[in-house]
Order: sequence, then C-alpha cells, then structure tokens
Amino acid sequence: MASGVLTIDLEALVENWRALDARTAPHVETAAVVKADGYGLGAAQVARALARAGARRFFVAIAEEGAAIRQALGPGPEINVFSGHMAGDTEMITDLELVPMINSIDQMLRHVEALPGAPFGVQLDTGMNRLGMEPAEWAALRDIAQQQGPTLIMSHLACADTPDHPMNAQQLRTFTEMTAGMAVPRSLASTGGVLMGPEYHFDLTRPGIGLYGGLPFAQAQPVAYLSLPVIQTRWVAAGETVGYGNTWSAPRDSRIATVAAGYGDGVMRLLGPRLSLYAGHTACPVRGRISMDLIGVDITDLPEDPPALDVLGQQQGVDDLAAMIDTIGYEVLTSLGGRYTRRLHGA
Ligand SMILES: *Cc1c(COP(=O)(O)O)cnc(C)c1O
Repeated sequence: MASGVLTIDLEALVENWRALDARTAPHVETAAVVKADGYGLGAAQVARALARAGARRFFVAIAEEGAAIRQALGPGPEINVFSGHMAGDTEMITDLELVPMINSIDQMLRHVEALPGAPFGVQLDTGMNRLGMEPAEWAALRDIAQQQGPTLIMSHLACADTPDHPMNAQQLRTFTEMTAGMAVPRSLASTGGVLMGPEYHFDLTRPGIGLYGGLPFAQAQPVAYLSLPVIQTRWVAAGETVGYGNTWSAPRDSRIATVAAGYGDGVMRLLGPRLSLYAGHTACPVRGRISMDLIGVDITDLPEDPPALDVLGQQQGVDDLAAMIDTIGYEVLTSLGGRYTRRLHGA
C-alpha cells in the first residue's frame, strides 16, 4: 500500500475540548467549530467524538456542512451556520434543523418569510468587516429581531491570536454596546478569545483550531499524525541530483528514500527546502523539489532503511510546518489531502 497514513487522535481532540472548556466558568457553554470538514480531519468523526464528550452545539461555515453534521449526529445537538440563510438553503435549514446566523436585513427577511418561527441566531460585525450586521443595520433591526427570539447573538474577533492587540478590547466594547440590555445568549470568543480571559467568554465559546491541536492554544495536544511509506530507496553518488529541476546535488554519497505523498496531498511544494521527515527522533531532510505524489528524503545517517517516515508527529506539528512557509496551522491542516488512509485513534 502506497498511501500515507493520517491518524486522527480523537482522545487528544476530546482532551483539547475539555481543556478549553475548563478555562471558562461552569455556566459558559463550550461549542465546537467543525467547518471545512473539521479543519481537514473529518467533520463527522470529530463531531461524534465531541458530542459523546458532551458538546451540544456545533458551528459550520455553510449549510451543506451542517447537513453532513446532522446526518452524523442525528437529532438533538444544535448546528449553527455562520453564513446564515442564503438563497437555496431553506430546505436544508428546515429538513435538517440547522440554525442560521443571520448576517443582514436581507437574510432576516428571507428567513422569517420562508420559515416563520424557525430558530435563528444573529451575527454582528464589530469591526472585522467580514460577516454580520454593522451597528447602523443592527440598530434598525434590533427590536424586530429580539421579538423573534434569536437563540444566540455572536461576533468574531479579528486579532484573537494577538492578545495584546488593541482591536480586541475595541471589539469587546462594541459587542457589549450592541448587545446591551438583550436577554439573549451571547458569544464572542474563538480559541484565541477563550485564552484571553473571562470578559471575552460571555455565554458560549466557539473554539476551532485549539481542538485540533493548533496555535494559539499552545498547550493543545497534537491531533493529526501523518506517516508516509517509503516506496523505494537508492544510493545517489556525490554530484548526482534528486528530483525535478536538479535543485539539489548530493555533496556526498547519499541514501535517498522516496516516500508516497507530495503537494497533491497538502505537503506544500514551498516546504521543500526547510522540511525534514522523522524516523523516530531523527530528522531526515527533504532533498530536491517536492513532487505531486513523491518526496525524496535523505536517510544517509540512519542505521537502516525505514519502512515509513513521519511528517506530523510528536517531533513536528502543524504549526512547525506552517512556520516554515510563513502560514498558519489552519492552512496546513485544511490542506491535508483526500488520498491518505485515515485511521482513528480512541474512536
Ligand atoms: C473559524 C471560526 C471560529 C473558530 O476559530 P478558531 O480560531 O479556529 O478557534 C469561530 N467563529 C467564527 C465566526 C469562525 O469563522
């Protein structure tokens, strides 16, 4: 078998959820964000594991994702949709009991006309300028919305990974002002907001990345493990090259392992010059360009040829990879491809 093995540690996932839950007061509910297929790790399995652990509310980006989560979880847990109620969503919202986070007056009208009395939440824009109603729009709609009884009012922080950024306090102020006097549960915090302390917690938190083992939750346990089988090994004489474009010439006689994954599987091409794969604790540098399906790895210093080499594991995590190419763990996780054999640990 020449497919990489992506192991999802559901026990670690659940522990991360519990650890974030423990950072908030007992009356604060901890939901789970499972958009983008559970940050690339498999939304159905992730949601089921968290529901078993006690999570009662899940957030997705679009209604189609919500439908998949409902099929995985069955009736009961609340499934909230960040993009709100879009044209064409009505049937999914009602059949699968999704709760749209209404982002505009247009969406509010669409929702109450198509599904009078159906539950909804409200998303406010407190400065990020991405989704949600701005203060003026909200002022016009607030009383009507309140009469309809929203299940939640939420907003999203633009700089939650930078706790000292003045934007956080500014958004907190704006959110507090926009929701003053409303007897509706409120939510402002994603993972970063949970870590910033109680004034950001309100009634419900919405962590995503921290559940999956990523920064800014530095204490998170890793959840994704990726191991790639060695397809072939060979000796490359000093002066010979490896891979497309001859970008690497062997400075000494070198043993090169060719492993089964590449940029087609989310091991981004830009990682090539900085990335090592691990044989246990030993780092084995990538040599030459990362191909679509294959990577050359220098195993000269290993005592014997390994059967497989690790990309993600205890030695190296998603944020280590992200730092090599100036991106974030979120992007590394959600890029993990569909060709891996996926195994669940602690299911
Ligand atoms: C993605 C997202 C979250 C989760 O954010 P993390 O940084 O992954 O914890 C919460 N709320 C909204 C609106 C989001 O888009």
